[in-house]
Amino acid sequence: MTATPVRNSTKALQAADARHHLHPFTDHAGLAAKGARVITRAEGVRLWDSEGRSMIDGMSGLWCVNVGYGRAELAEVAKQQLLELPYYNTFFQTTHPPVVALSEKLASIAPAGMDLVTYAGSGSEANDTIAKLVRYFWNLQGKPRKKTIISRNYAYHGVTMQAASMSGLTAMHPQFDLPLPGVVHVEAPYWYAHGGDLGPDEFGLKAARAVEKKILELGPENVGAFIGEPIQGAGGVIIPPATYWPEIMRICRQYDVLVIADEVICGFGRTGKWFGSQTFGIQPDFMTMAKGLTSGYIPMAGIMMGGRVAETFRNAGEEIVHGFTYSGHPVAAAVALRNLEIMEEEGLVDAAGGEIGAYFQAKLRAALSDHRLVGEVRGVGMIAAMELVEHKPSHAFFDPKRGVGTLCRNHCFANGLVMRACRDVMVLAPPLSITKPEIDELVGLAADCIERTAVDLG
Ligand code: PLP
Repeated sequence: MTATPVRNSTKALQAADARHHLHPFTDHAGLAAKGARVITRAEGVRLWDSEGRSMIDGMSGLWCVNVGYGRAELAEVAKQQLLELPYYNTFFQTTHPPVVALSEKLASIAPAGMDLVTYAGSGSEANDTIAKLVRYFWNLQGKPRKKTIISRNYAYHGVTMQAASMSGLTAMHPQFDLPLPGVVHVEAPYWYAHGGDLGPDEFGLKAARAVEKKILELGPENVGAFIGEPIQGAGGVIIPPATYWPEIMRICRQYDVLVIADEVICGFGRTGKWFGSQTFGIQPDFMTMAKGLTSGYIPMAGIMMGGRVAETFRNAGEEIVHGFTYSGHPVAAAVALRNLEIMEEEGLVDAAGGEIGAYFQAKLRAALSDHRLVGEVRGVGMIAAMELVEHKPSHAFFDPKRGVGTLCRNHCFANGLVMRACRDVMVLAPPLSITKPEIDELVGLAADCIERTAVDLG
């Protein structure tokens, strides 16, 4: 463990922070009482806090630092681009070399046929943009009633009004009087929690047919799109049974409903291919991209389109009245492009889908599948989850009020590991650049913290 110099007193930083900084997803009474964790430095898969303590970042920040921390090349391209053209917009028939190169690159790695991209600053903005483009597409098609978007329980699509509406995590709605009209939710393909007596494949079909039922209930003439993360991330790394996505594709094609794959977490190698759509056999009309696009080094998101959607917009014959000041920002585009090149040069996507991903998944299962608190270890490539349960044979969950996931997460923080708790599901999504010895260390810490949690629970 290397100590980092303490430049400011932690207490002073925490006091000023608590007074002047409203944090996302934070209870401020707790923040003022305990003080925020102050992270000051990162390298590879490790973070350091203001007291010089190091931690393995098992979450790649917020599922985004796919190439790991401390990449000097990304700082270098940002610096060069800041000197050459720090800003120019892409409105009114204007472009610049970095955004052209990035768009071409994205078209070359996207699922077949997807070759048109527009940009935003965050995953939420990108999903908002898609919701607008769905409306616009059906207006151009002369089907203005085809507007309702079907999403799912446990979905996380971001926090803008529309993205939060499409999210299916119920805590996201009441504070803001959401969801907006025009968004409906159906059951998620969450076999471990809701499969009952059905086998995974049977349950996957049932969950997909909930979408068909909803389409028929609303009338196909009123349904514009279905949105889904290939794997539902923040909902608890819900990995759909193999039958789910093919059935979703059949249903959406049959009723002429557009398919939006929210690739904000799954994109850029996380599941072992460039996109989760490629891992799960999804042929989307729209893909939402963010996070791993720049490995989080700088904000950027993208919306990828293909087929008739792309053709319709190319041939709209009028100005599309939409765009952000920072759509296709040149510095972000330059960083994104170099980030994708690093992923290619180091074979990070292949590693996630091959040796390193297999090692990570095998180590986790070996360490934790038989643990008395762990109902299931699941994962694909470099994303994984452990369900903490009260009774393994029946899949019985703990009373949420006991905060078992939070308890475990706090043991992790105290012992040098960042592992996230989504309800009582412990989640890992480390940088794709992690090495085998680092995986050993990470899994050892995770197992230790889950055991500490079990001991606390008695
Ligand atoms: N979509 C998914 C699947 C996400 O996981 C997230 C963020 O975690 C978002 C959208 C929202 O992205 P952002 O936080 O960049 O707005």
